Amino acid sequence: MTTEDGSLLIKPALKQELAFYQRIQSDPAEAFIALKKYTPKFLGTLTLEGEAAGSIDEGTLQIKPVGERKESLVLENLSHKFSKPNILDIKLGTVLYDDAANEDKVQRMLKTARETTSLETGVRLTGFQVYDNSTGVAVNTPKSYGKSIKPADLPDGVGRFFPAGDAEGSSQGLPKATLIPILESIRAEIAEIRDALSKLEFRMVGGSILIIYEADWERAAEGIKQYLASHSKPKADAEEEEEDEEDESDDEDHAPPPAYTVKMIDFAHTKVEAGIGPDEGVLLGVDTTLKLLDGRIATLKA
Ligand code: ADP
Ligand code: MN
Repeated sequence: MTTEDGSLLIKPALKQELAFYQRIQSDPAEAFIALKKYTPKFLGTLTLEGEAAGSIDEGTLQIKPVGERKESLVLENLSHKFSKPNILDIKLGTVLYDDAANEDKVQRMLKTARETTSLETGVRLTGFQVYDNSTGVAVNTPKSYGKSIKPADLPDGVGRFFPAGDAEGSSQGLPKATLIPILESIRAEIAEIRDALSKLEFRMVGGSILIIYEADWERAAEGIKQYLASHSKPKADAEEEEEDEEDESDDEDHAPPPAYTVKMIDFAHTKVEAGIGPDEGVLLGVDTTLKLLDGRIATLKA
């Protein structure tokens, strides 16, 4: 569910996900500070006291109690700033059940991990959406595709999400001159995520890396150009600019359209606990993702 302007996402709050988002706001540990940059902005919770029925214009509006009060998370909608968002959800981890699962569920989830790419590689491509630039239409690849493929098919899957177009704009994807720097920047950010996760003592089940990039040629080209310019600034310049920044939110309003975003999402079954160490299955998945991106970059450069 999104708000009317599409900028925010309302998601039913599970205890663990709420606890994770609350903790990442304020925990001063290095891993949390590093990871916060790679999670959607968390604006708080919203309590739905009832369900609206009827019409306010006809004077029949009623708020019916729903019994239990339902709490929801209010998160930044990551695709909102994009004109044509290409979206990929990569489910991380080799273990697909948590402490709360009964024996039956454990057995089913072990089987699912074995029969999909999850157990061997720590990733599963969940659904993805890619705009076809020759038609302007978003093409969805269903969950079943990612569930059916073998580890050896993963490079092909990633290739489908990052198709390359020709310079005339007549074909499916972005031209290489735009796509390659986008891929390289995404790769660099995922390496930072890996670093942060390696310092966190946690278990994550069903969590994902969400990659979104702009399919509109002009916006993508402009976005990555500005991004690269602002990230290769000489240091003195960058410092000067920081002093000028009086109001961060005002600054964001004037920000150019983004070329891409990379975030960790879905902490509904994530626990953070001192002494348990990092989640090795999740780290394996992040490493697989890095390798897949390296492979795609190499193919595009060849
Ligand atoms: P669940 O898997 O429990 O239904 P997720 O948090 O994984 O919930 O969300 C489901 C899908 O919704 C994701 O695969 C992603 O495509 C989209 N999504 C989730 N969070 C965001 C967000 N903050 N901004 C944009 N899209 C999101
Ligand atoms: Mn999910």
